[in-house]
Amino acid sequence: MSDKVYQAVPSTPGTETYWDAAKEGKLMVQFCKDCKKPHHYPRGVCPHCMSTNLEWKQAKGTGEIYTYSIMHAAKPAYVIAYVTLDEGLSMMTNIVDCDAAKVKVGQKVKVVFKPTDNGGKLPCFTVV
Ligand SMILES: [Zn+2]
Repeated sequence: MSDKVYQAVPSTPGTETYWDAAKEGKLMVQFCKDCKKPHHYPRGVCPHCMSTNLEWKQAKGTGEIYTYSIMHAAKPAYVIAYVTLDEGLSMMTNIVDCDAAKVKVGQKVKVVFKPTDNGGKLPCFTVV
């Protein structure tokens, strides 16, 4: 597997908490204090109820593959997936450090952090 990664969360104002935590090996998700739902990617307004009353919580870092796509055109091929975290939200990510043949819908995965070009760490997932 390649370490090529897809950066689904932009490094923009409001996402510093996400990226700072990732550097320390923590996966953070935003929860809405009004409707109680989590969402991803991080933003200033809840996409469910438009509330700005948000908080960060550390995710367990485990979940399962909701859907995925193997990028065969790339050499070597790599896997982009939507992973549904145990907290109930889905995030676009890369499945890394495993044989692509083991990647399937419903497969349990856990977060791993990959170095980025700018000195940060990017949350990716690998099969468990
Ligand atoms: Zn909300």
